[in-house]
Amino acid sequence: MATTKSSIIETRRDQMFPVLETDEIERMRRFGAPRSYSSGEVLAQAGKVSDGLTVILSGKVDVTQHAASGRGDLIVTHRAGSFMGELAQLSGRPALVDAQAQEPVDVLIIPPDRLRALLIAEAELGERIMRALILRRVGLLEIGSGGPVIIGRSENGDVLRLAGFLRRNGHPHQEVDPEIDPEARALIERFHIDSGHLPIVLCPSGQLLRNPSENELARCIGLVGPIDPNRVYDVVVVGAGPAGLAAAVYAGSEGLSVLVLDCRAFGGQAGASARIENYLGFPTGIAGIALMARAYNQAQKFGVEMAIPDEVLGLDYRADADDGCFALKLANNEQACARSVVIASGARYRRLPVNNLEKFEGASVHYWASPLEAKLCAGQEVALVGAGNSAGQAAVYLASQSAKVWLLVRGQNLESRMSRYLVDRIRGLSNVEVLTQATVTGLEDRDGVLEAVRWRQGLKGQEIRRAIRHLFLFIGAEPNTDWLSGSGVALDRKGFVLTGSDTIENRQPLETSRQGIFAIGDVRSGSVKRVAAAVGEGAQVVTLLHASLSQKLRAKQTGSRL
Ligand SMILES: Cc1cc2nc3c(=O)[nH]c(=O)nc-3n(C[C@H](O)[C@H](O)[C@H](O)COP(=O)(O)OP(=O)(O)OC[C@H]3O[C@@H](n4cnc5c(N)ncnc54)[C@H](O)[C@@H]3O)c2cc1C
Repeated sequence: MATTKSSIIETRRDQMFPVLETDEIERMRRFGAPRSYSSGEVLAQAGKVSDGLTVILSGKVDVTQHAASGRGDLIVTHRAGSFMGELAQLSGRPALVDAQAQEPVDVLIIPPDRLRALLIAEAELGERIMRALILRRVGLLEIGSGGPVIIGRSENGDVLRLAGFLRRNGHPHQEVDPEIDPEARALIERFHIDSGHLPIVLCPSGQLLRNPSENELARCIGLVGPIDPNRVYDVVVVGAGPAGLAAAVYAGSEGLSVLVLDCRAFGGQAGASARIENYLGFPTGIAGIALMARAYNQAQKFGVEMAIPDEVLGLDYRADADDGCFALKLANNEQACARSVVIASGARYRRLPVNNLEKFEGASVHYWASPLEAKLCAGQEVALVGAGNSAGQAAVYLASQSAKVWLLVRGQNLESRMSRYLVDRIRGLSNVEVLTQATVTGLEDRDGVLEAVRWRQGLKGQEIRRAIRHLFLFIGAEPNTDWLSGSGVALDRKGFVLTGSDTIENRQPLETSRQGIFAIGDVRSGSVKRVAAAVGEGAQVVTLLHASLSQKLRAKQTGSRL
C-alpha cells in the first residue's frame, strides 16, 4: 500500500501552534506593548520586517501564504491565547507570511530583543515558544512558502546554486521551471526576459533579480543587512562552522556583543556532512545540517548577529576608532569593527582534479575512514589516495575491514612522508598494495553509483581500471587563511594559524601572535579536525575573550598601552 508523507503542520500542530494560559500571558506583558487593529488591518506582510512576536489577546487573525496576486492559502487562524511569529521575529528579519485581522483584534507585541530576553528569563515557556518558532520555520520550508521564487530550468547550474544557498541557510523558497509551469512562462514574458538570461528571482518584496549572486539574493530577502561601521562589537567571529557557532553561543550567552560573518552558509564543513556519528550525545548520529541549525538558532536566541553571506577579505587595526579596534574588510566594501576577533574560518579538504568527483562524495568518495565507512565497503576492494600519516592509519584500518586496499601514492615512495612504524605495518599487510607515482585518471558510474576507478602509474604507464566502489582521499587540508595575509597574524608553514606558545612565550593557549585575536577549530595549527574539538575550542575561547577585554578596559582606565 502506498503511504503518503504527512506534513509537519498536521503531525505537530499542537506544538507548532500552542495556546498560552492566562497567567503565562500575564507574565509576558512586561516584555511587550499592547496594540489594537481593526478588522481587515494587516499585521504582517511577507518581505517586510514586522514589529515582533504578536500574542493575540482577543479577536481573530488569519495567517496566509504570500501570493503575489491576492490572498494566498490559509496556514492558520490565530485566536486569543495563541501567538503569531516564526524564527524571523527572533532576529528582526522580514516576515515570510501575510497576516490580517479578521475582526477587531487586541494584541501584545514583543519586539525581537525583548523576545530574546523572554526566552531566557522564562525557561519552560521560552522552550515552548522557541520550539513553536522552529517548527513553524520547518513547516514553511516544507511547503516552500514565504521565500523568493526562483524561475529557471531545474537543471540549470545557477538555479541549483541559488536553491542550494537558500537550502543550506534554512530559508524557504520555490523553484519553478518555465518549461513546465505556465505561470512562470507568463512572468518571463511580462518582464521581457530572454530565456538565455534565466534564472530570475522574485523576492517577496516584489523586487526582481536577474541571475543574482548569493549576496544580492540574501540582501533582497533580508538575510543580511548593512553593518554599522561605527559600531564596535566585543567580538567578531569569522566563520559559522561548529567552532564559530560555539564561540558565538557561549559569548552571546555571557552577554558579549557578537557578530558572526560567513561567506557561504552556517554549519561549515559539518553542515555538509550527511551524518555525524561521533558527536557526544547523539548515539544514533545526526545530520550535520540539523546539528548546525540548532546551534545557529541557539546563537540567535542569545542575540548574536549573523551576516551570511559576507566574506572577510582582510584584517587591520584602526587606531582612529574609539580606543582602537580591529577592522574586518568585507567583500561588499563594508567594514566590521571589534575589540577582539575569533578566527574560525576552517579548512577545506583537498579534492582530486577528476571529473564528477563531487557527485560521489558522501556515498562513495570519503575523506574519513571510520567504522561507518568501513561497514560500507566491508569485504570489497577499495582505493585510497595519500601518503601522509592519516593515509597510513586509514590504510591499516581499512585493510582490517575490506578485501583489499589499493594505496595510490603520487611520489616515489611512502617513506618520505609517512612515519616509519606505519610504513612497516603497511608492508606487513598482505592485502595492501602500494602503487607509487600513481594518479587517479577517472571515475565511472552506473546509475549514479561509483562502479570503477581508473588510474595510471607514471606518465607513460598504462591506464588501469578496477571495479571499485569506494575511494578514500587523504591528500591533506588547506586552511582558509588567505584573508589574513598582511594582518600580522603568524601562520605555520602550511598556512594554518599559530596559537599559544607556538607564537610567543606565555601566550594564552588559543591566542594568535596578535593580542586580542584568537583562532579556533580546523584553521588552527595542530588542531584535531573533529566537530567536537571545534566546539570545545569555541567554548574555551570565551574565557580568554573575557580576560582580553578586561585587560583592554584596565589599560584604558590606567592610560597604558597594551
Ligand atoms: C564530508 C565531511 C564529513 C565530516 N564528518 C565528520 C564527522 O563525522 N565527525 C567529525 O567529528 N568531524 C567530521 N568532519 C570534520 C568537521 O566537519 C570539521 O572538523 C569541522 O567542521 C571544523 O569546524 P570549523 O568551525 O573549525 O571549520 P569549518 O567547518 O570549516 O567552518 C569554517 C567556516 O568559515 C567560513 N569561512 C572561510 N573563510 C571565510 C572568510 N574569508 N570569510 C567568511 N567566512 C569564511 C566557511 O564558509 C565555513 O562556513 C567532516 C568533514 C567533512 C568535509
